[in-house]
Amino acid sequence: MRTTIAERTARAAAEITRIGAGTVSTDPALIMKVSSDWSRMSPVLQEKVPPGRYLADAVVRPTEPGQVPALLQVAFDHDVPVTPRGAGTGNYGQATPFDGGILLDLRGLDSVTVNDGGTITAGAGARITAIDRVARAAGRDIWIYPSTKSSTIGGFVGGGSAGTGSIERGTTSDGYVVSALVAPMDGSGTMRRVTGDELTPYVHTYGVTGILVDVEFRTDPAREWVAVYGAFTSYADVVAVHRSLLDLPQLPRLASADEPALVPTLPAPVALDPERHSLRVIAEASTADEVAARMASGGEHVATLADYTETDRLSGMSYNHPVWFLQRGNPHRSWFHMESGGTPLWDAPDAVRDVYDGPVHIHLELFRHGPGAMIVAGYQGEAAMLAGIPRLEALGVGIHSPHQWYVDRNVGLAIETARLTDPKGLLNPGKLTAAPPVDTRVNIGVR
Ligand SMILES: Cc1cc2nc3c(=O)[nH]c(=O)nc-3n(C[C@H](O)[C@H](O)[C@H](O)COP(=O)(O)OP(=O)(O)OC[C@H]3O[C@@H](n4cnc5c(N)ncnc54)[C@H](O)[C@@H]3O)c2cc1C
Repeated sequence: MRTTIAERTARAAAEITRIGAGTVSTDPALIMKVSSDWSRMSPVLQEKVPPGRYLADAVVRPTEPGQVPALLQVAFDHDVPVTPRGAGTGNYGQATPFDGGILLDLRGLDSVTVNDGGTITAGAGARITAIDRVARAAGRDIWIYPSTKSSTIGGFVGGGSAGTGSIERGTTSDGYVVSALVAPMDGSGTMRRVTGDELTPYVHTYGVTGILVDVEFRTDPAREWVAVYGAFTSYADVVAVHRSLLDLPQLPRLASADEPALVPTLPAPVALDPERHSLRVIAEASTADEVAARMASGGEHVATLADYTETDRLSGMSYNHPVWFLQRGNPHRSWFHMESGGTPLWDAPDAVRDVYDGPVHIHLELFRHGPGAMIVAGYQGEAAMLAGIPRLEALGVGIHSPHQWYVDRNVGLAIETARLTDPKGLLNPGKLTAAPPVDTRVNIGVR
């Protein structure tokens, strides 16, 4: 009789403990906690992957790089699924252990080294907050980091995409990663350093092609960054300044704008007028006066805060965060968001808002090729939400739906790679398929 995954996991866990390839826990409270992520931001995923529906059978935590290939070999030998996890801030449910088995908690791999050429090599579980501290002390700026700065570098490269720094440096697929030490699930008990084009199937593919043990990524010489706040009476006024920032001699690190509806729940260090549109910019210090002047000419320059920690605070109100703050501040309502891109977000906001019933709000971010946005609307069911995607596309707005957990970048290449690196399909099961049952198109300019 074939054994269950739980039984096989118990045997694998005993073997992992015996060979010293990581600390094993079967504490139900811990398993419950680490078996879900921030998918609760999606009303669709709240229903499909609620906490507790899919649980790992054991949590394994390595603290040395060499333990990862060793424990994967044991899992391979026992046919045990392994789902990698960093800080669990992914919001697509993409670290949910659908088949149970081992939840691989990588936070114990937290080394950070600044290399001679200026790149940084960090253990997959190193938090980006810690990495940035080391980077700044060494006179370096990380190219890109997410608004969830306490997330791990392995999770950001494995599941994230963009953030502070993206105006200049694009996404995690645009040369950010120099190399990665990858452990495959092929029974070899090995790991190897992957570089160049070979990295593609390992970036933003949720660990289905191999476990990132460490990541080497690019930095720039450190600059002095300041946080600049502005307020505007109309959407057109805030957009005029937002788009103008692309002609600054040094591009800003971040430029986030919100409609009044999204402003009251933002945890800003300065008073934000809930009646007006908010623009928040991480500007290079020598451009700060120019940014302030542009804000003043179209609206009001509210404040410039020079301490570097203030740029962290400003970054913490970017990307998905305003959506989360709205949800947290209005628990009686169910909101969903769509990740989007395209100049109609600047030029035709009313047409964008008309796509969904009820109040629709736009949180703007800036990219070199134009605006990105979280389009936020009241949730009226999955079908109504998905029906908006072709309507947005017809307007020229590209969409990525954060309401599904399937690998949606370089899928063919990931499948081809996983055939070799994970022949039994044990890595993060349920995330990689050529024919997902829901809309997973991505056309917002990420590669
Ligand atoms: C409020 C909010 C704001 C956010 N803002 C941003 C943002 O600005 N930019 C952005 O890109 N994302 C953002 N995200 C999504 C998420 O925070 C990022 O993708 C984050 O960097 C993920 O890191 P993590 O350590 O939490 O990874 P996890 O959530 O633990 O994992 C993410 C994915 O990577 C896989 N994974 C984890 N570690 C490894 C590894 N070592 N090897 C292989 N695969 C691995 C996991 O299985 C999972 O599929 C946001 C999420 C929330 C909830």
